[in-house]
Amino acid sequence: MQHVTDMAGKRAELTPDRIAFVDEETGAALSFAQVNDRSNRLAAGLAGLGAGAGDRIGILCHNRPDFFTFLFACQKARLILVPLNWRQPPAELSPLVEQAGVKLLATDAAFAGVAAELAGQHGLGRIGMEPETGAEIDLETLLAQAPEMRDDPRPVGTDEIWYLLYTSGTTGLPKAVIQTPGMCWANAVNYAQAVDLISSDRSINFLPLFHTGGINLPTLPLFLLGGTSRILRRFDAGAVLDLVHRGEVTSFFGVPAIYQAMALHERFADTDFSRVRAFACGGAPLPEPLIRTFADRGIGVCNGMGMTETGPTVFLNDPAHARSKIGSVGKPQMLAETRIVDAGGTVVDGEGEGELQIRGPGVTPGYLGNPEATEAAFTDGWLKTGDVARRDADGYYYIVDRIKDMYISGGENVYPAEVERVLVGYPGVLEVAVIGVADDRWGEVGEAFLIARPGEAIDTGALPRWCRERLAAYKIPKAFHVVSDMPRTAAGKVRKHLLKEMRP
Ligand code: ATP
Ligand code: MG
Repeated sequence: MQHVTDMAGKRAELTPDRIAFVDEETGAALSFAQVNDRSNRLAAGLAGLGAGAGDRIGILCHNRPDFFTFLFACQKARLILVPLNWRQPPAELSPLVEQAGVKLLATDAAFAGVAAELAGQHGLGRIGMEPETGAEIDLETLLAQAPEMRDDPRPVGTDEIWYLLYTSGTTGLPKAVIQTPGMCWANAVNYAQAVDLISSDRSINFLPLFHTGGINLPTLPLFLLGGTSRILRRFDAGAVLDLVHRGEVTSFFGVPAIYQAMALHERFADTDFSRVRAFACGGAPLPEPLIRTFADRGIGVCNGMGMTETGPTVFLNDPAHARSKIGSVGKPQMLAETRIVDAGGTVVDGEGEGELQIRGPGVTPGYLGNPEATEAAFTDGWLKTGDVARRDADGYYYIVDRIKDMYISGGENVYPAEVERVLVGYPGVLEVAVIGVADDRWGEVGEAFLIARPGEAIDTGALPRWCRERLAAYKIPKAFHVVSDMPRTAAGKVRKHLLKEMRP
């Protein structure tokens, strides 16, 4: 195991006076020296509350700079931060808190009630991150009382458990993925060089911090370079467009649902995007019409692919190919190795479709407390992604679909994503999801769920013909349901196993 430097401590040594975080809600700015000082005090304060190496600290809050104070304090004190998904009700969070063995819970005022319920059920101490949380101790008091340093800040190893993140839960129950400092550094290298990140860049962070995308794309790579992240409590399309327009952001990351919300916003047309040097996207398929909407504004949105298990950045397309390689997630980045393996276990890179497998320092050591799931996820040191991919002759990769979502109709494999790409081009369609359902005659057939663009209607009568002109007969859905919304994860991904239950 290698040692890594204390991330906040090193940054404070190199660029103490530069601004690390701006709280968009209050306007307060925190320098790297302040972030480090708060993290040191918090590490000492948590120790004073009885938290020892390896103990779990839960955190339940909207985005705020002090989320990172907790993250760095945990790194320094070898505690394990467990960010909780604030969209989940107490009944869903309770078993996660139990399994993770959370001991203390930090909360903001918005989730004080949920935190109180969880604390009561599991006997947790609570730390309030703002006034009126009802917690036993509030963060500012804890910091004021704590010494500046703990006694023994030993260097932390690259492979130590730093924090836990739950997967999105797109295909089932979320899994607790171990995150290490080494994964963070690997992602920083992968992401920073892919988007040409520099220390004078400014980012805005509105993605939920309980997912890797929120922690590791807009913020930590830039933090490690000494740049500034502006933290928004949560996403608001108007506020984000306004910040972009005012030049407060030079490097942008969003998931497809974020780009969609910006494109649909009334101020999209008047927003000046010219100060943003990079537009990156990932986490879910990026629909072609959306890429074109931005391309029409001269903006190359770079599609990328990553997972909670991979740090996340594995692939990212380059701006020069955002248009010419539409639909591609680009190439595997500096510290990521990938291969494509067919059902028979043969490596078929460049020759066909198969499961995408990933190796490298950005990949997790496994799922916490679930050795069976960890064992099942790896083969010979490669992470099995559960995604089907292909590589073109120029070395660009395409995510075909999830293996779990594929269905077999009349003996032929159907990838819903291919059918979705055809349907999303149909007039009036904003979004579409296709699932396979049991069928007496064909084994399985497809059914499509469609959401109309605001103010538009979808003429489902002409859809079969649209499909016949573009798809083999066995791929054409047998039913088309127009719906107003679909069951989703926090990142906006459609939870297809729940969609099956929504069938009329
Ligand atoms: P769960 O593992 O709980 O089912 P999840 O896989 O959605 O949820 P994440 O780790 O957030 O959880 O997402 C990683 C997955 O997202 C990838 O395995 C892949 O299926 C999908 N994905 C990420 N980026 C892209 C992309 N650009 N295009 C298509 N799919 C993507
Ligand atoms: Mg997954």
